[in-house]
Amino acid sequence: MHQPSMQKRIAIFGSTGSIGTQALDVIAANPTLFSAEILTAQQNEQLLIEQAKRFRPNMVVIGDPNKYTIVKEALDPLAIKVFAGVAALEEVAALDCYDQMLAAIVGYAGLRPTLAAIRNRKSIALANKETLVIAGDIVMQTAFENKVPIIPVDSEHSAIFQCLVGEVHNKIEKVILTASGGPFLGKKTNYLVNVKKEHALQHPNWSMGAKITIDSATLMNKGLEMIEARWLFNLKPSEIQVVIHPQSIIHSLVQFHDGSIKAQMSLPDMKLPIQYALAFPNRIGNQFPRYDFKSVRHLTFEDPDVKTFRNLALAMEALEKGGNLACVMNAANEIVVFAFLKNRINFLDMTTIIEKTMQRIPFIQHPTLEDYFESDAAARNFAADQINL
Ligand code: NAD
Ligand code: MG
Repeated sequence: MHQPSMQKRIAIFGSTGSIGTQALDVIAANPTLFSAEILTAQQNEQLLIEQAKRFRPNMVVIGDPNKYTIVKEALDPLAIKVFAGVAALEEVAALDCYDQMLAAIVGYAGLRPTLAAIRNRKSIALANKETLVIAGDIVMQTAFENKVPIIPVDSEHSAIFQCLVGEVHNKIEKVILTASGGPFLGKKTNYLVNVKKEHALQHPNWSMGAKITIDSATLMNKGLEMIEARWLFNLKPSEIQVVIHPQSIIHSLVQFHDGSIKAQMSLPDMKLPIQYALAFPNRIGNQFPRYDFKSVRHLTFEDPDVKTFRNLALAMEALEKGGNLACVMNAANEIVVFAFLKNRINFLDMTTIIEKTMQRIPFIQHPTLEDYFESDAAARNFAADQINL
């Protein structure tokens, strides 16, 4: 029986992206459980309009104010409220009309709306790992104070989260984050110097947005994920290990203090961790293809090559030192990835510029939120100047 009152009302921030569109697939497949209450997009007004016509949210936000009129005219007849601009994201996140935010905006832009939702006591399904990389201490403290659960969507963190269910009082010895290794696994510097964006955008196992796909090719993604894990699960840097697992079947592992290791396995499909985060603590049946031992018979593991993929070493340094260093690194990374995607710099320049930025921006051991905002801005300016030289 249709029970609208039992539906969880989801606010998808970043509904036109890779995570956002897959989340809408999950909602479409489970209409009695979920409704899309708020949808937001930055540029793609046509897809936002199409999504709104289909899912009939209460409201939408288009980030680019120039596109307000187009969206407004298209959705007015359906009585869907339309807002535009950066500030609207935070304002809408502070409203009461939804139950859970799916934080699926990419990069720094996701931080403020997510914080607004946490202060508004809305539970968070977190895809936007940058939020925790930039200001993980403050975000987690705010979530704790407001009694807000943060449920990871990132597949590795979802795996760890799933391994921890029922283990509340049991001590974690370490978590092991798996990494596919990306398209350049096994390659060396003399190869990487020439790679083009078209090549870097071809991920072997996952289809994702452009930024995270480049981050996967440089291994920065795994560095961001180590920092994300540090905050989500309150771990020491020494308790987080990375292992390359090219088949992407084991999504991560937890080793407990008795030496027992739990792993979560499935075919690589982001719909699974998205669905898990929306439905937690329940599991929902689905028709996603299943992993079977006949299709992938060999699961292999190797150490990451941090000498070649130096972004991972830089992220480990940021993890170890703490303070505003990860925020600075993240800002520089967003600038260089964008520049690489515009063919302005080559693959290895990305690392050089991030490293320089990390050395240049003043270190702050205990930053306030304002310090994080300022460190982000300073790092962006410095990194952008390096590109324009
Ligand atoms: P994407 O580029 O496909 O989509 C990004 C979404 O954010 C779009 O809806 C876009 O309109 C919106 N957006 C972009 N810039 C914005 C801005 N300045 N202000 C407001 N909205 C903006 O990205 P994605 O691959 O879906 O990734 C989203 C987040 O999820 C990232 O933080 C990524 O690291 C994380 N994540 C993604 C995957 C994946 O499989 N795609 C897996 C794990 C984690
Ligand atoms: Mg991941």
